[in-house]
Amino acid sequence: MAKLIFASAAATIGIFAIAGLVFAQKNQFPWDDYRVEGDLTTIHVQGNVYMIHGLGGNVAVQIGDTGVLVVNTGLEQNSSKLIAAIRKLSDKPLQYIINTCAHPDQTGGNEALRKIGVTITGANVTGDIADAGQGAQIIAHENVLDRLSAPTGQKAAAPAGAWPTDTYVSGQKEVFFNEEPVEVRWQPAAHTDGDSLVIFRRSDVVATGDIFSTVSYPFIDVERGGGIQGEIDALNNIIDIAIPKHEEEGGTYIIPGHGRICDEFDVVEYRDMVTIVRDRVRNAIKKGMTLEQIKTAGFTKDYDARWSAKEGPGTADNFVAAIYRSLKASPSR
Ligand SMILES: [Zn+2]
Repeated sequence: MAKLIFASAAATIGIFAIAGLVFAQKNQFPWDDYRVEGDLTTIHVQGNVYMIHGLGGNVAVQIGDTGVLVVNTGLEQNSSKLIAAIRKLSDKPLQYIINTCAHPDQTGGNEALRKIGVTITGANVTGDIADAGQGAQIIAHENVLDRLSAPTGQKAAAPAGAWPTDTYVSGQKEVFFNEEPVEVRWQPAAHTDGDSLVIFRRSDVVATGDIFSTVSYPFIDVERGGGIQGEIDALNNIIDIAIPKHEEEGGTYIIPGHGRICDEFDVVEYRDMVTIVRDRVRNAIKKGMTLEQIKTAGFTKDYDARWSAKEGPGTADNFVAAIYRSLKASPSR
């Protein structure tokens, strides 16, 4: 029961935060410690990590004596607002940008942010630094670079200045920055084929990118290599990493791709919902139902009020269609 009350209170506060109301009272939850900058909200999550909300996707910012590291960069048109919000947190050099996927709501500010940043050659990123030129390094899975760039002569999805400069192809990439180990872990075939979780090990915060959202069903981008099994695996990985302080509450904080700050309990709830809907669609496919029949059968009816986005990729129809396409393409994906 305590968990239910907690979850519903947290959800209510999340909605207020999005509406831009300010709570003067502070208590132990990070979402009570934030300030509103125009339509942006900057929240101290825990340790060295902040979240800036209202730019498209959420941006995680790690600050310290050495400099600034950001996870994702919001929509392109919000770049100058993002830079101003980062500067209010720290005047140290921006050295690292990490992208959790290739979508424009998470990478749109890459070029503008890279320009204000600095590359520290011989820094503590494992592996080679592909680009020792000016600007912050952009770290991402190799597939993010493939999505944003294009072979010579073809039009790329993003300008060259926005492309990752430092990619990895499997496992994880490690950065030691601001006296904190930061892990960038590939989550294959989840929201896309280039997703990374970013784990701040001292601050005890995980930035999940679009694998996890508090405002919609997951966007499983099957066209860009996403898949339902990879999505569930990735949610389980987040649950494995998160350690609650009490029961399933507090402890590790989770920054979703969109929406409010969460803890493990919220991810467990989401994972259960995603798994249940997947099972319903899988059973329907076994019975020979078509996608149109599945869409009209109402398999998400009990969850729609909480999770269905009004438009865009996170609607019930798009979620069910993505599960269907993913299972049809490969029953294990
Ligand atoms: Zn994305």
